[in-house]
Amino acid sequence: MAVLPLRTLPDPRLRLKAKRVRTVDASILKLIDDMIDTMHHVNGVGLAAPQVGENLTLFVIQTPALELVAVNPEITKQAGQDWYTETCLSIPGRRMTIKRPKLIKFRYQDLNGIWHSAKFHDFYAAIVAHELDHLKGVLITDYLGTSEAR
Ligand SMILES: [Zn+2]
Repeated sequence: MAVLPLRTLPDPRLRLKAKRVRTVDASILKLIDDMIDTMHHVNGVGLAAPQVGENLTLFVIQTPALELVAVNPEITKQAGQDWYTETCLSIPGRRMTIKRPKLIKFRYQDLNGIWHSAKFHDFYAAIVAHELDHLKGVLITDYLGTSEAR
């Protein structure tokens, strides 16, 4: 267990398209543990692997109501739109209001490699959309000047 250094803009690792996790082996389990420690340390609600410099499709979410480790997440459905004000651990001090889906359905693998489906609404859908963006190298500031931000 360890707190990892957070990658912040303009670190180029935040801009890569993340690669699939082939097997959840001991090194991935350690990474997940360290990501959870890191997220707690900085009081975050979500953290994607690229934010600690690992180019892998993996994120963790932890709020009082939700704990999730999602390996190889893929969106299966999204619906509706609403505005959410977001911050990002990789862009300290920045706050953006972004249009996000009101409902997001996605599938992911757990720590045993078993696939699950999950459905999140509203604030939680926005968190998931934010973390999924990280896996594509997309950051909240990319929405600046588009109809998706205000
Ligand atoms: Zn972020």
